[in-house]
Amino acid sequence: MKYLADLFTRNRAWAGDIVAADPEFFARLCDIQRPDLLWIGCSDSRVPANEIVGLAPGELFVHRNVANVVPVTDLNAMAVIEYAVSSLGVRHIIVCGHYRCGGVRAALEGHQAGAVALWLQPLRNLADEHRAELDALGSAEERWDRLCELNVAAQVQAVASSEIVEAAWERGAELAVHGWIYDLKDGLLRDLEVTVGNIAAGG
Ligand SMILES: [Zn+2]
Repeated sequence: MKYLADLFTRNRAWAGDIVAADPEFFARLCDIQRPDLLWIGCSDSRVPANEIVGLAPGELFVHRNVANVVPVTDLNAMAVIEYAVSSLGVRHIIVCGHYRCGGVRAALEGHQAGAVALWLQPLRNLADEHRAELDALGSAEERWDRLCELNVAAQVQAVASSEIVEAAWERGAELAVHGWIYDLKDGLLRDLEVTVGNIAAGG
């Protein structure tokens, strides 16, 4: 008896459907990976990157962590950005947060411990920076949702000011960093219009 046999069954069905529609699909992907997009999102199981933008394997380079935080000291995130920008040549980096993010709520409530608490310290700092704005909101849910948005904007700035991205712009590479937010309630994305970069909309 296999562990998680149902997942292998689902995998066979998935691969079979793709090959039925496009017999060369996997053969083409074997040879080259050339996505134009890097997605930096939350690990939340309800926000699956490829699915919510309807993209197939090969079209999205993905990095996810708790609450889509991009500290410049995080070797993992920096390696992903470096590889995406310098080797794959992606032209768009999308930082995508989501409303009702558990990591953001944990940072607001401030009573967690261990690795998650350490990881969320930048979010606690961000909440402190925007304390007046957050406190002026009428409910805990509004503060929670607003900090989700503020976090996306802050992470766009963090990515845009990383050495890797600044170096890419200095050498004239086309590259834009976008901040989006996903709503669990209706499955829709919203552009927070905090894009930084040298690509015009529609490009
Ligand atoms: Zn989340």
